[in-house]
Amino acid sequence: MNEISVPRPNSLDAYWMPFSDNKYFKGDTSRMIARAEGMSYYTPEGREILDGTAGLWCCNAGHGRVEIKEAIQKQAAILDYAPTFQLGHPIAFEAASRIAEMTPEGMDRVFFTNSGSESADTALKIALAYHKARGESSRVRLIGRERGYHGVGFGGMSVGGIGANRKQFGALLPYVDHLPHTHGLKENLFAKGEPPAGAHLADVLENLVALHGAETIAAVMVEPVAGSTGVLVPPAGYLKRLRELCDKHGILLIFDEVITGFGRLGTNFGAERLGVVPDIMTMAKGLTNAAVPMGAVAVKNGVYDTVVNGVAGGIEFFHGYTYSGHPLAAAAAIATMQLHQSEDLPGRARAIEPYWQDAMHSMRDAPNVIDIRDIGLIGGIELAPRPGKPGARAMDVFRRCFDAGVLVRVTGDIVALSPPLIVEKPHVDRIVGTLTDAIRAEAA
Ligand code: PLP
Repeated sequence: MNEISVPRPNSLDAYWMPFSDNKYFKGDTSRMIARAEGMSYYTPEGREILDGTAGLWCCNAGHGRVEIKEAIQKQAAILDYAPTFQLGHPIAFEAASRIAEMTPEGMDRVFFTNSGSESADTALKIALAYHKARGESSRVRLIGRERGYHGVGFGGMSVGGIGANRKQFGALLPYVDHLPHTHGLKENLFAKGEPPAGAHLADVLENLVALHGAETIAAVMVEPVAGSTGVLVPPAGYLKRLRELCDKHGILLIFDEVITGFGRLGTNFGAERLGVVPDIMTMAKGLTNAAVPMGAVAVKNGVYDTVVNGVAGGIEFFHGYTYSGHPLAAAAAIATMQLHQSEDLPGRARAIEPYWQDAMHSMRDAPNVIDIRDIGLIGGIELAPRPGKPGARAMDVFRRCFDAGVLVRVTGDIVALSPPLIVEKPHVDRIVGTLTDAIRAEAA
């Protein structure tokens, strides 16, 4: 057992846990994680918990990868830190070029951040700077989508479409609109992969153009598959339609690929799987396998050229973080991307996807299951809420699964699954078997 696996006396009070029920957790710390390896977490007592969620959709290569650990250790001994403002260190450039090799063609310029939230805000700022550099500084309006999640910075929170994440904070960014979410159409219930109906929902962008004028709109930002709000897979043709409308009106299309990047959908990025290339793409999570925080924003070469050539000299983009391109994160990212290649993680995801899909949909007849959706190695199982107690049913299921040794994730009454891409059939069976039992037990 790890010697620092048990919290120090009184340390529970000190840590304000993010997105958590602090009062509940601190009264019952049985969900403490001490160590991880391969497909599993281990509690301080040594109990194994099979990871059905790749942490928070991020440990795509599985846990405790020696290759990543060694790359970080090696880099720490060579160069712990150096600024990247008006200075450079080779490993950050290498990491950027390796990302550029994985992104869609012509999207070869990469800006580093430390998280998905920072990537979202950076992408929005790049869009605004791009239009300004083109002499279209009236384009300041940003468009997101209901039930979109783009992290917790003011940009991402404002463009995001989750009421609970916004309401606590009063004033948000001005000049923000939202497209309708793409979920809930009857024809799409229990769809496998991209659901058939709803491409027309992209046309609401035309309404916003009619209302405000295209000359005021800078960018549309969406997740290719909305993960955090319960695995909302875009209807077939929806993203293509959004792309066409953005092109028609000179609006930049941003894909938030923080979850869908790095193999989750069986391709390097969701853009490739879904056949639509955005102008700007955010990423984080799987970039370093979450071993060190790092995010990035990849942009089409023309977007970079416009911003960088938009000024005669001096700083072109007044934005950056102390840790942009941090050497240890860059080392982790390079090692992770090498693993993606050497182990063909996207290919592994593709190979097991049919089995995963069948396993997901085998839960259809379990009590209270009202919808199931999947794409790549993501699955969402929606439960009917307990009357008057939204979210309580899925939370109960989550606890039962954890107690039975499987980690799932819940959002509202939706159970979301996203195992590491190294998942094998027996793991899938155990995840689905445990979840099905938990759903049944909750209903009983
Ligand atoms: N964007 C998307 C699509 C996400 O799923 C997330 C996190 O789940 C974020 C942004 C925020 O990332 P972070 O928590 O690293 O700031």
